[in-house]
Amino acid sequence: MSKGTPSMGKKSGKKSHIMCRRCGGHTYHKRHKTCASCGYGNSSKLRSYSWKKNKA
Ligand SMILES: [Zn+2]
Repeated sequence: MSKGTPSMGKKSGKKSHIMCRRCGGHTYHKRHKTCASCGYGNSSKLRSYSWKKNKA
């Protein structure tokens, strides 16, 4: 058993994130039914946090 990046290889096959229909990213969680990027499925508003620096 090893921790860290090499162990990520065990995650292959099961894809938890699929294409998000709202933001188009590969960040929609299949089981959670939420998008990690825009929050689709979680809230009607776009997911945004103050700690996340927006380039605007
Ligand atoms: Zn999204």
